[in-house]
Amino acid sequence: MTSTIEAEFSKAEIARGEALFKGGCSFVKGVVKIDGLPTDGKPEICFAGRSNVGKSSLINALTGRTSLARVSVTPGRTRELNFFTLGKDKALYLVDMPGYGYAKAARGEVRKWQTLLKNYLRGRAELTRAFVLIDARHGVKESDEEMLGLLDETAVIYQLVLTKMDKVKPAERSAVITATTEIAGKRPAAYPGVLATSSITGDGIAELRAEIAGIAR
Ligand code: GDP
Repeated sequence: MTSTIEAEFSKAEIARGEALFKGGCSFVKGVVKIDGLPTDGKPEICFAGRSNVGKSSLINALTGRTSLARVSVTPGRTRELNFFTLGKDKALYLVDMPGYGYAKAARGEVRKWQTLLKNYLRGRAELTRAFVLIDARHGVKESDEEMLGLLDETAVIYQLVLTKMDKVKPAERSAVITATTEIAGKRPAAYPGVLATSSITGDGIAELRAEIAGIAR
């Protein structure tokens, strides 16, 4: 699985990614209102995905910690933008967004969250790239399409990241990557190139770190 993506990164880029994440990742704040966003102008990246896509596990795998992003107990419960600083210089923010596509959330709560999300995406010059996580077993679902549509509309550059690749049979992996790459290719704000990851085997984690380190430079 990694052979298709490993080629895209040099050893130096992989090492830069490793160094960035070795520098630490610490929680700064949970933002519930737009006026609570950090104002220091640091570039930021965000992680979005459907509830249960494996976002917490991926963030924990990236940062090498076991409990930085709480592995979800009640999906969709936390409606905040969680800000973390990355690296020893704390030069970049990593923003963990609440999982979407969870039907049981109260309607009023969903509306409040959607307003925050839209305001954030529309006005946030610091937001350099969004990583949208896609469960490799399920592919791009309707709620993912909605998120991608919102990112296209707000002109936020995003990249698709497949999660749980270990759950896909080896013979089917390249087809899953190709299908997802094709979907990204048709969307206006999508960054070309899909990353395939597994938080269980660690596949694609070094490459995702390298991708993020490339943004931080
Ligand atoms: P979140 O709701 O998106 O934060 O998802 P979690 O990280 O809480 O993961 C949801 C479920 O998927 C949990 O049961 C995880 O153990 C499982 N999971 C997450 N990542 C992987 C992975 O890479 N491979 C496999 N097999 N399971 C995973």
